[in-house]
Parts: sequence; structure tokens; C-alpha cells
Amino acid sequence: MVERTLSYIGGSDVEPLDGDYADKIDPRTNRKIKDVANSGPKDVELAIASASTALSAWRDMRPSERGRLLVEIARQLRESGQAVVETESLETGKPRREMAQLLDLTAQYFEFYGGIVNIDDGNIINVGPDYHVYTRRDPFGVIGVILPWNAPLHQAARAIAPALAMGNTVVAKPSEHTSGSLVEFAKLAVEKAGLPPGVLNVIVGKGSVVGPAMASHPDVRKISFTGGLKAGQELGRIAAERILPLTLELGGKSANIVFDDADLDAAAKGSTSAFTWNGGQWCAAGTRLLVQESVHDAFVTKLVDNVAKLEIGPQDDASYGPITTNAQFDKIKNFFDIAERDGLKPAIGGKVLDEDLGGGHYIEPTVYTGVGNDMEIAREEIFGPILSVIKFKDEADAVRIANDSDLGLAAGIWTRDIGRVHRVAGRLEAGRVVVNEYSGGFVQTPCGGFKYSGYGREQGVDALAHYTQLKSVIIRL
Ligand code: NAD
Repeated sequence: MVERTLSYIGGSDVEPLDGDYADKIDPRTNRKIKDVANSGPKDVELAIASASTALSAWRDMRPSERGRLLVEIARQLRESGQAVVETESLETGKPRREMAQLLDLTAQYFEFYGGIVNIDDGNIINVGPDYHVYTRRDPFGVIGVILPWNAPLHQAARAIAPALAMGNTVVAKPSEHTSGSLVEFAKLAVEKAGLPPGVLNVIVGKGSVVGPAMASHPDVRKISFTGGLKAGQELGRIAAERILPLTLELGGKSANIVFDDADLDAAAKGSTSAFTWNGGQWCAAGTRLLVQESVHDAFVTKLVDNVAKLEIGPQDDASYGPITTNAQFDKIKNFFDIAERDGLKPAIGGKVLDEDLGGGHYIEPTVYTGVGNDMEIAREEIFGPILSVIKFKDEADAVRIANDSDLGLAAGIWTRDIGRVHRVAGRLEAGRVVVNEYSGGFVQTPCGGFKYSGYGREQGVDALAHYTQLKSVIIRL
């Protein structure tokens, strides 16, 4: 019997009311593994009704009790979340070794936000002795959370945990390509940790149907969207009509800058994982590598040596696995043609590996040198393991090239000069700057984009402001 992934609404599995089913393909074999609900507008209506019904009791629950439940979700995930991460590994193709890290990160969001539910409830404002004035942070109500396929649980947790902590209820829509782990996670939260049914609902279906239905619904009061620019813009148009608050976490083409005084061995290692982690299916991937011309050739040799050591395949401890969706695989392959058209030859890589690896879609880690920042491969988000190496002369040149992009999600700097660290970090147009490593930051550090990479922030204490609306209370004494 073919397994199915259904929506999880009000604490129950729900078959599509006005939708059908789509095939879910195993990225390691390119074969169908299950049916996935293709929910329609009636299902969306049901999920929003469920979240609306659960709202008043959840909003009015003592914050300490909400916090306790969030921490309990994390505990249950750590204790019995193995099946959830197995599902995510199956659906995304991620190596199991990596899933252990992602389980830990997912639990950390619930522990962190469970522990800080009361940290920013507002302030008392002194306007004189004849008034008592204060601000308070009210939840929005029902929040829609729309998610991509590249790190489903992690991205879900970073939006859902603060939303719930602040007294909102949630209708989450995972990507149609990777819905299973979030459905299983929501079940664990309700059935094992005791989250009241209806506080977290998961609707499984296509973005083009479910997304607009959620955004147009009057009872949805805020949407947190993580995904690509096109869908983000479509959502933004609907939101503009409704004056619906949005958090948009969009794509990147992040610059990773290596200065000539850097520890070049560390930089070569870090710059390799920067563009190959998760097969480059990472929004903040450092895919434009800017290298100072005085060390360019020596550095490229070290980089290529590091890239050559990566092991790609279906095995549990692979450096990275297959490309998760067929459409994404085709998109990445097309960039090999685009690079060739522009006269580029790979210093390493440049091929697909699907022949001998069980039918899955694997892409070699690929480095192009001599790339101009105006070339298509340096401007477009590829979302695959393809790196553009670009030379620069000096600090001002590096900042100019790094900022010459429509996108501004993240950046890396490698240098031993502390003055330069602060000068360059201050000038880069990016939501996160990482120095002398290239990483995704921490649960506690805000994440979000400049320019077309989006607005609003997830992660950290700052995210709480994006899941609440500030109210002033002015009392004449
Ligand atoms: P996508 O935009 O195709 O899909 C994202 C989600 O939006 C999916 O759930 C999809 O079903 C839904 N969707 C599609 N059309 C929609 C519409 N018209 N209205 C509302 N929702 C719609 O993106 P993807 O291919 O799933 O993910 C890759 C993209 O996500 C990349 O651009 C990547 O950089 C970005 N991303 C950003 C971050 C971040 O934190 N900034 C994190 C991960 C991924």
C-alpha cells in the first residue's frame, strides 16, 4: 500500500475535502514513494477555522504554561523524534548524519522561545504624574507560515516557535515536495507533548492554491513566508490589498570575501562548505567567492583540493545528497550551459552524477574561476553546488562587488585585520555577516535579508516583535 501524507488539522489527519493527491518522488532513486494531499480552498478554510477556534484559550493561557509546552515539544522531539527526522531524510535526500544536527537545531528553537515567552512584554513610559502609560505586545491571532523544501523542520521551527510563544495559533504550509516531517512533528507536539489541538495545524498542498487562499482569508492576520522571490512577490501583491503583515525570508547570492591576510587554509575549508552544504540548497550559501588578486591562484588551488575531498551520494555520511526536486535539478544543470555560453570552464566539477548513484539526481560540486560579477551565474540564485570565483583588488573593490547584487541575505569575511572586519561588516548590504567562518548563525541571532532577500527577521529575541503587534495603553489618572 502506498503511504499518504495528509493535512493535520485540529489534531486529526484530514483527507483533501476539495483536492486530490500528487506523487512524492524519492530524490535518492527518482521513484514514487507516496501520495501527498493536494489540498484545496475548503481544506484551507477548515485549517483556519481550527486555528481560530483554538486561539482564545491559547492566547489567554499563562505565558509560563505556553513556555512549558514549547519546551516539552523540544524534549519529546529529542527523545522520540527519530521517525520525524527519518521522514525528512527520505523526502529531502539529506544524509542522516546531517539530520541529527537539524533535529538538535529544531529542538533548540522550542527551548529558546519556550524560555523567553515573557522577555519583552512592553514598557512603562513616563509622560508625567497625571498618566500611567504602558505598551503591551498582543498576538496577531492566526498566523500563516509558508515554507520551502530545503530544511523543512528547521525553517518551520524558527517561525512556529516564536509565533506560538507569543500566543498566536498557526496554520503551517510546508512545501508540497517535503510535507511529511512537519505533519509528523505537529502530531508529536499534540499527541506526545500535549499542545492543544488546533494550535498548530499543517495544511499539505500546492503553493499556488493554498498560499493565495491563506493570504486572502480575513482570519489570517500575518504571514511568515520563507521561499523564492517569485512566490514572495505574488504573496506580497495579495498582502498589499489586505494590508497583511508579512515576514519575507527570500533567496540569496551571498558574497564570501577572502582577503590576502586571511588564514587561507581555514578560508578554503570554510568556503568549500559555504557553497556545498546541503548541496548548495541553502538560502545563505556563499556562492560568490571574492578573492584578493594577490592570493587568488594559491587560494584557488587550496579550494579545489578541499572540494575534491567531498563525497556525494546516498550514503548516511555523505558530504551532501541528491538535489531534492526534479525541477531544481533541471535548473542547476541549466547553469552548466549558461556558464559555457559565457566562456567559463570549471576548475573542478561541471557534471551531473545521476548515472551510477541509484537513479537519484546528484550534482558535482563545481567551481568556476574568472567569473565577472555581471555574468548570469554570478547574479542569479542557483540553489545548487556551483561557485563563482571573482577577483578583487582592495577593500573598497571587495565591498563594491559584494554589494553589486539585487540580493543581500548573508556575507562572509576572512581576514586577520580587526579594523577591516568592522569597516567591511558595516558596509556590506547583507542581513548577516560572518567572520572567519561561514555558518548559518545561531537560534539566538536574527536572520533576514536586505534588498530582494526580504524583510522582517526570524530567530533571536528580535523575532518576537514580528509575531506581535505593539499597543500603547494611556491612562489618565
Ligand atoms: P518557492 O518560493 O517555490 O516555495 C516556497 C513555498 O511557497 C512553498 O511552500 C510553496 O508551495 C509556496 N508557494 C508557491 N507559490 C506560492 C504563491 N503564489 N503564494 C504563496 N505560496 C506559494 O521556494 P522553494 O523552491 O520551496 O525554496 C527555495 C527558495 O527558498 C530559495 O530562493 C531559497 O533561497 C529560499 N529560502 C530562503 C530562506 C531564508 O531564510 N531567507 C531559507 C530557505 C530557503
